[in-house]
Amino acid sequence: MATARDRSLIRQAERYAIEHSDDLDNRVGVVIEAATGEMACGANRIPSPYKYDERRTRPGKYPWMVHAEIDAIMAFARKGVDISGATVYMQWFPCSACAAALCAGRIARIVCSRPDYGADRYHFGKAEQLLRENGIVIDFTD
Ligand SMILES: [Zn+2]
Repeated sequence: MATARDRSLIRQAERYAIEHSDDLDNRVGVVIEAATGEMACGANRIPSPYKYDERRTRPGKYPWMVHAEIDAIMAFARKGVDISGATVYMQWFPCSACAAALCAGRIARIVCSRPDYGADRYHFGKAEQLLRENGIVIDFTD
């Protein structure tokens, strides 16, 4: 169950997205809290200095954009921080690729809203299955 602190960290993720996302359709932010208490943020963005509008909107954005979860994982990787046992706070449920990365990083818990299981493109059902198979606690905010 999501706590008041959890919701506060999700609002922090939302603020980070507003300030740092390159996506003009859907700004997504993530906060990861390592087991040590250290924090990293991520946003969906283009890891290139060339942020042309056609790279920032549908349908052209998909090959250019890194998802917020991966951006936050990379922020910790640059600092050499282990994410095993971490908690991940985010507005939206992770897509299957990000869920797999979080599982590979051996995080402990995610806090987010319930997915739209009908959005097949993101394979939310399989993402949730993979997270649960890895024993990751999922706390929904809704
Ligand atoms: Zn993703």
